Amino acid sequence: MSSAPTDKSKSYFPLAGSANDGWSNEEEATATCFCGAVQLKFPTQGPGLVETFVCHCTDCRKITASMFASNFTILDTHLTHVRGRENLNAFGQSKTIGTGNTMTNHFCSTCGTLMYRVSTGFLGMSILRIGTVDDFHLHETKLKPKREQFVENRVKWLHSLDGVRQFEGMGTP
Ligand SMILES: [Zn+2]
Ligand SMILES: [Zn+2]
Repeated sequence: MSSAPTDKSKSYFPLAGSANDGWSNEEEATATCFCGAVQLKFPTQGPGLVETFVCHCTDCRKITASMFASNFTILDTHLTHVRGRENLNAFGQSKTIGTGNTMTNHFCSTCGTLMYRVSTGFLGMSILRIGTVDDFHLHETKLKPKREQFVENRVKWLHSLDGVRQFEGMGTP
């Protein structure tokens, strides 16, 4: 690990979890769980990349064990399980989902990292986590959230993101 300041203007892969084989190029990138058992590959632009957003809903607080989730949506036709699909466990429920949809979490059975969620209301796409993407430069650029939803649940000590569209509830796509 270098002690030099990180240059965030280009791709960089800080020490984050056990895997060190993440990569990105102009069109695609990897997302890896904390222990490295599960790795996904996805496109970093449309049409495979549908949207990027921050969600403050109560589910996202609970399942991230934090105050919000940073998400991006990928068409399933464009999502590749590089390894570890058999290492993913699924847990789904509909009790807390206002629309009555069932949301199913797919997480690494070894380290617990939530890799994506799937909703019965949005078939054909998976909601991945920006924080699992190995190239941290993408967190700042192509995957930077474009919308913020369930802002009515946002903790008071957080402020809205500059220049990002704000929605109560799911809002309009
Ligand atoms: Zn893992
Ligand atoms: Zn949410």
